[in-house]
Amino acid sequence: MPKENNNDEPKEYCGLFGINNNKHASWLTYLGLYALQHRGQEACGIVANNKGVLSIHKEMGLVSDVFNEAVLARLKGNMAVGHVRYSTTGSSVLKNSQPLLIDYAKGSVCIAHNGNLVNSLELRQYLEKTGSIFQTTTDSEIIIHLMARAKLRNLEDSLIYALRRIKGAYSLVMIADNSLIGIRDPYGFRPLSLGKLGNSWVLASETCAFDLVGAKYIRDIEPGEIVIINDTGLRSIKPKELHSNKHAFCTFEHVYFSRPDSVVFGETVHSVRRKLGSQLAQEHPVDADFVVPVPDSGFSAAMGYSQESGIPLELGIIRNHYVGRTFIQPMQDTRDLGVRVKFNLLRDVLKGKRIIVVDDSIVRGTTSKIRVRNLRKAGVKEVHLRISCPPHRFPCFYGIDFHKTSELIANKYESLDKIRQYMEVDSLGYLSLGGMLGCFKNSGIGNCAACWTGKYPVRAEKRQGKFSLETHCCGQGEIIK
Ligand code: SF4
Repeated sequence: MPKENNNDEPKEYCGLFGINNNKHASWLTYLGLYALQHRGQEACGIVANNKGVLSIHKEMGLVSDVFNEAVLARLKGNMAVGHVRYSTTGSSVLKNSQPLLIDYAKGSVCIAHNGNLVNSLELRQYLEKTGSIFQTTTDSEIIIHLMARAKLRNLEDSLIYALRRIKGAYSLVMIADNSLIGIRDPYGFRPLSLGKLGNSWVLASETCAFDLVGAKYIRDIEPGEIVIINDTGLRSIKPKELHSNKHAFCTFEHVYFSRPDSVVFGETVHSVRRKLGSQLAQEHPVDADFVVPVPDSGFSAAMGYSQESGIPLELGIIRNHYVGRTFIQPMQDTRDLGVRVKFNLLRDVLKGKRIIVVDDSIVRGTTSKIRVRNLRKAGVKEVHLRISCPPHRFPCFYGIDFHKTSELIANKYESLDKIRQYMEVDSLGYLSLGGMLGCFKNSGIGNCAACWTGKYPVRAEKRQGKFSLETHCCGQGEIIK
């Protein structure tokens, strides 16, 4: 079952890293995971390949807590794969953390997965009924079981056999048959990039990981592409079974999840966010003294808003980056303590001012409301809230954990003004869908925006549905609640 998300922020599913042909493979993977920590903070792990012998270390916790010199020294070999995780499928226990390392009839295989399959229940039921025994409750393990079913000798054909049966969002980094493998689903929901470090190939969810290890960004793994990297070099295959004319790059990666210093889907995240902020200023102008970003993800959009409007940018909200996930509230009557411990206010700057607060999104609105109240207590005269995406109304089936649909603030209140009243702000403006998608270089054609529109590029399984292994197919525009 999905884990309850008590925090008021949506959660990413995972971050991936892989490298070949490097005697410091596990060390570099550790660094890569450091750069990707924002994509998952519950568990992390590394698998290293020493001439076909795979070793693993994974634990619950942050990269800095899980790995040390002694652990990394044990992860020998010149190829490694790493994973940081936030759980959206499978409970948050160590056995479900990744990479998964599994021995099967064809040898050892390790898999690290970012995304969610939309037909996992159906596939799992089918596989269990026909004899498969699962070690975890993650949907990633299904891929290995399907590979094991393939009565095909070579790795490539077994992989294609498995991949043509799974549906949904998957970027994968694997080790099998002494090869490092990178895969992106036919729609390309989640990012996966290819880099080069000397004679080593590197795979990572975001290019910020390349920067940290000193690798050069080469290109993205294309939707529906498999790259197989081994001693003979890099081979790219684009099986016709994985071909799709339509792509569905996750728009929310740019709006919120990815780091601003990453190049995602061919565009620098910071640059896109600035455009979103600039468009927001055009759509929702208001007179004020300052533009104040909600740190950290609201910074770039606030810069764009400020530039477009000519209203100066000012720091008014300061984020404490050292709040652990296990912060314990010491008293019952301090509901806003969790917000105050994370965000402090620059009272001298804010007192008596009219401010435009720029945030990337509102999910439930609880944190934003407390923040607005604290701004009022700090003496702010007017608070104008601007959001650099449209209102979220629908769930994501492709690896992002929003709250229950009924808890989303845009579903709780029937009008923008009702949301404004709840938030206790003087004015509220969301970026329009067209305005948001127009900020992408392809004007959003080929982007997924289902959490705003309810139009799902790949249909999710119905829990009681009758899809079969062969007939499950992609649909357009179906809202599944
Ligand atoms: S539904 Fe939203 S969060 Fe999920 S993949 Fe699509 S754009 Fe991204």
